[in-house]
Amino acid sequence: MLSATRSSFKRAYSSAAPKTLTIGLIPGDGIGREVIPAGKQVLEALPSSYGLKFQFTDLLAGFELFKKTGVALPEDTVQALTTSCDGALFGAVSSPTTKVEGYSSPIVALRKKLGLYANVRPVKSVDGIGRPVDMVIVRENTEDLYIKEEKLYVKDGQKIAEAIKRISENATTRIGKIAMDIALQRQAVRELGGSSLHKGPILTVTHKSNVLSVSDGLFRETIKNYYTEHQDKYGSIQYTEQIVDSMVYRMFREPEIFDVVVAPNLYGDILSDGAAALVGSLGVVPSANVGDNFAIGEPCHGSAPDIEGKGISNPIATIRSAALMLEFMGYPEPAAKIYSAVDANLMEDKIKTPDLGGKSSTQEVINDIIKRF
Ligand code: ATP
Repeated sequence: MLSATRSSFKRAYSSAAPKTLTIGLIPGDGIGREVIPAGKQVLEALPSSYGLKFQFTDLLAGFELFKKTGVALPEDTVQALTTSCDGALFGAVSSPTTKVEGYSSPIVALRKKLGLYANVRPVKSVDGIGRPVDMVIVRENTEDLYIKEEKLYVKDGQKIAEAIKRISENATTRIGKIAMDIALQRQAVRELGGSSLHKGPILTVTHKSNVLSVSDGLFRETIKNYYTEHQDKYGSIQYTEQIVDSMVYRMFREPEIFDVVVAPNLYGDILSDGAAALVGSLGVVPSANVGDNFAIGEPCHGSAPDIEGKGISNPIATIRSAALMLEFMGYPEPAAKIYSAVDANLMEDKIKTPDLGGKSSTQEVINDIIKRF
């Protein structure tokens, strides 16, 4: 199982050959600057038995930077990521409440420039808070209604707005394939001793093909066919489908039944925010922006101006994002080590930041997690 999973992702893991990985660090705005150091410290503290060393490159991006320089994503940052980094961690960007001329989100631009077509968002319950959940939403990130081909016109004196929903066979195959690889990868991490609700991998394809029979019909058929045609590789995955409205209902009623959920862009956007609400705090939910050659780990939360500078931001979303990044770089063992250390911290009631009802600081939580390696 493990070897099949490793070969699905770009870089092969070799515990025999010590290797230095260069990680780009893009703190961005607000608490991004407080949590990115958590990712760095945790990677640096990984046991040497994994044969990995890290060097870090500090990179600029964000709304604060835009206010100072007029540029939200400097070319130097893109250049460094594409030429000298093996992976990256992105903190957060503040979102201006009204449209600011010339500004657009640097993470959205990075996803495009680096071909990061999948947004991967695992959600795992914190012990004792809410219902048990251990799922990942894999959201297609390049098409659907988000291609922004909209128009407004007037007919019979009434305004009419239209937006194109584009689903292509190419992009759907790509997202379906990576979702299946993730299902196998999660199984491999489970087998390395990570705690989990699931015994085997399950894929749930989300769609609305009962109404949108052409566009969502293509999404559903494409993934189903790919799965059926690649049983040699994906046969251990249980294949299921859910119409998106019943997906929402079931995700809140019985989230424990879902493992890997793959969805077109719009449904994926909504489902992943909904899923984050199942686990108590945004401060524990990681994500990764993934393409065929690169992964950027990114906590799901924003710049949280209300807690900035207080030293109480929960670092767990970023720490889990660093582990996710490692998974996509082809290093499941150290990723599993980080997940277990985080789970162990969350199981105990002692060292938690205030968003989880504790009194500890960001640094105390980082230290407690590192101590568990
Ligand atoms: P932005 O404008 O950047 O999106 P926001 O405050 O609207 O910022 P988030 O940053 O996602 O959105 O924060 C939403 C809420 O969750 C805030 O009350 C924030 O304090 C809390 N929060 C977010 N991240 C964390 C974290 N890592 N630790 C603790 N609380 C957090």
